[in-house]
Amino acid sequence: MCFDGKLGGGAPQLDDPIAISALQHAVFCLRQAALIHIERVWEENLLTAEGRVMHEVAHRDASRKSRGVRRSSGLPLASKRLNISGIADVVEFESGPGGEIPFPIEYKRGRPKVHRADEVQLCAQGLCLEEMTGRVVPRGAIFYGETKRRVIVPLDGELRQLTEDTVSAFGAIILEGRTPRAVWKRSRCSACSLIEICRPRDMAKSALEFRQRSIVEVLEQETFGDEAFS
Ligand code: SF4
Repeated sequence: MCFDGKLGGGAPQLDDPIAISALQHAVFCLRQAALIHIERVWEENLLTAEGRVMHEVAHRDASRKSRGVRRSSGLPLASKRLNISGIADVVEFESGPGGEIPFPIEYKRGRPKVHRADEVQLCAQGLCLEEMTGRVVPRGAIFYGETKRRVIVPLDGELRQLTEDTVSAFGAIILEGRTPRAVWKRSRCSACSLIEICRPRDMAKSALEFRQRSIVEVLEQETFGDEAFS
């Protein structure tokens, strides 16, 4: 994750809750999250369009019950403690001795990723469900459209910490109201739907040019004194 600032410190003091869907973008790149959720820039490509359609299909499923599992789709979620809110694609409620245990399921178009963006989004849903139901949510699942498989995700301490750190980091950016500068990383930026708007290579290049120009000016100043600039 490309956090630029300090982490931790609990829920940011914001007027509006942070969208849970923003957290996946914040894990991927804080600048991307700011562009989409603060500056409201959105560049839809084929992948994001397919992902959006998949979520709409998941939300369209009516709530139902089978084999002791109640299934609810498009469920609104919120956590006052973390100041986040969103909508769960699907939540299954399995009957247990002390009552129903929530099991969030997030639908994704692609396949499992090397970063933890999808898991953080799922974990945020789990944290909301815990606060809303008073029941511990030990795990959830991500269904990937490309592999057509459900991946079980334990909501362990490390993932919970990463999720809360992501909320803090993105909340700090919203409070500050400043979109972070682009940092070019080939593996990340080449998969980013906002690359044409963000132009991270141009920014990196201009920063490099600026640095080179500054070095030349300092050297000229040291060599020729003020005459060099008159
Ligand atoms: S192009 Fe790179 S730096 Fe820019 S928003 Fe996307 S991931 Fe972030």
